Amino acid sequence: MKRVVVLGGAESGVGSAILAKVKGFDVFLSDMGKIADKYLDMLNKWEIPFEQGGHTEEKILNADEIVKSPGIPCNAPLIVKCEDKGIPVVSEIEFAGRFDPAKKICITGSNGKTTTTSLIYYLLQQAGLNVGLAGNIGKSYAYQVATENFDIYVLELSSFQLDNVYDFKADIAILTNITPDHLDRYDHKMENYIKSKFRITRNMSEDDCFIFCSDDEITINHLDKIILKAKMLPFSQKKEVAQGAFLSEDKMVVRVGEQECDMYLKELALGGKHNVYNSMAAAIAGKVMDIDNETIRRSLSTFQAVEHRLEKVLSIGDVLYINDSKATNIDAAWYALECQTRPVVWIVGGKVKGNDYSTLEDLVKQKVKAIVCLGVDNTKIHAAYESIVGKENIVDTLSAEEAVKASAAFASAGDVVLLSPCCASFDLFKSFEDRGTQFKQAVRNL
Ligand code: ADP
Repeated sequence: MKRVVVLGGAESGVGSAILAKVKGFDVFLSDMGKIADKYLDMLNKWEIPFEQGGHTEEKILNADEIVKSPGIPCNAPLIVKCEDKGIPVVSEIEFAGRFDPAKKICITGSNGKTTTTSLIYYLLQQAGLNVGLAGNIGKSYAYQVATENFDIYVLELSSFQLDNVYDFKADIAILTNITPDHLDRYDHKMENYIKSKFRITRNMSEDDCFIFCSDDEITINHLDKIILKAKMLPFSQKKEVAQGAFLSEDKMVVRVGEQECDMYLKELALGGKHNVYNSMAAAIAGKVMDIDNETIRRSLSTFQAVEHRLEKVLSIGDVLYINDSKATNIDAAWYALECQTRPVVWIVGGKVKGNDYSTLEDLVKQKVKAIVCLGVDNTKIHAAYESIVGKENIVDTLSAEEAVKASAAFASAGDVVLLSPCCASFDLFKSFEDRGTQFKQAVRNL
C-alpha cells in the first residue's frame, strides 16, 4: 500500500491526511510543533496516526510521497533529506487536484487574491452553480475533495501553495499582480517569487484561460519570456484590449470571444481602483464561464466586502473607521490610501518585511493628517513621515485600544480613521485577523 506522509498538522495538512485516508493510502501525519485541539479532534475522528512536537525520521523517510504544508519552507532540513532520498514532495493542492474532476478557477497574486476569489465564488453562486471555495481560504481544498462533490472550485492559491505543484492544472488561472512580498522565502530573489506565481499556469492548454493585469509591468515582462498556450485575457485601466477587460469612460467593458458585457464603475460594490481590477478579473472569469450579463452586474454590485479588507466598521460623530488589517504590504496600503476621499488618520506599523516607505510619501502628503503607529518598532515610520505630518501629529501605540483612542483624538467630523498597517501583525497580535478584530472591538467600545 502506498505510504503518504503529511508534514504539518493544521488546515491543509489535516485535510490532506483525511483525503489520503479516504483514498485508502497508508497515511501518517507529523508536526514539529503542537497541533491545535480542533485538528487533534479531526485526526482522532478519522483514525489517522500522527505525532506532534517533533519528527521521527524512520516514520517519514519510508514514505512513497510527502505532502508538505505551505508553512514549511522548501529548504527545511527534513524536506531536503526527503528529496535527497528521492521521495517526491508535493503540496496539498497537487495532491488533492489528482482526485478532483471539478473545473478549477485558480487565483494568485501579491494582492487582491481573497477579494477576487470571493467575488468569483459569489458570482458563480448567484448564477446557481454547484461551486466550492477553497485554497488559502476557509476549509482546505483536500478536505473538501474528500468530503464534498462540487462541479467547480474557486481556489485562492498563495505562492507557497504553488511551490510544490507539478501536474496540477487550472482551467482558468488568474494572476492579480506581482509586487515584492515574502522575498525571505525566495532567497531574496524577485525572479524566484515571480516564477512561483507563474506556476499557476503550468500544464494549461489552448482550451484554458489566463486572466492577468496588463498594467502590471512585472507580469508583462515575464510573459515576454515564456510561452503560454492558454487564451490570454488581460485587464487594464490604462488601455483598451481586444479580449479581456478595460475602461471606457465611466464604464468597465469585458470582452470574451464574441461576447461583451459592460457595467458602470459607480455600480461596483467595492470601491477603490484596486477593486476595479479585482472586479474586472471576476467579470472576465464570469464571461468565460458563460454567465449572463445581468447576473454579473447584479453580483458585482451587491457583493459585501470581505472582513479585514477595507471593511467599514462604524461611523462615530461622522468619523468613519475602516479596518484594512489585511493590508500587510506597502502596495496594499497604497491602494487603501489612494481610494480615500476624506482626510485620513492612518494607523500603520507592525512587523516589518523590509518596507520602502518612500513609495507612499506622495499619498501621505495628499491625504494623511495624522499617523498613529501600532508596532513595537516604529523608527522607520517616524523617519519617513514625521517631517510630512509634523511631530505633533504622529504617536506610538502598543495596542489596538490605545491606537483607536489616539486616532479618535486626532480625528474630527468628516475624517476617516484607516487601519491599513502595511506590515505583518506578529509583533503585537496573533494574526492580521486578530489585529482587525481587536481594532473593531476597540472602535465599538469608544
Ligand atoms: P490577498 O488575499 O492577496 O492578501 P486581499 O484581497 O485580502 O488580498 O486584499 C488585501 C489588501 O490588498 C486589501 O485590503 C487592499 O488594501 C489591497 N488590495 C486588494 N486588491 C488589490 C489589487 N488588485 N491591487 C493592489 N492591492 C490590492
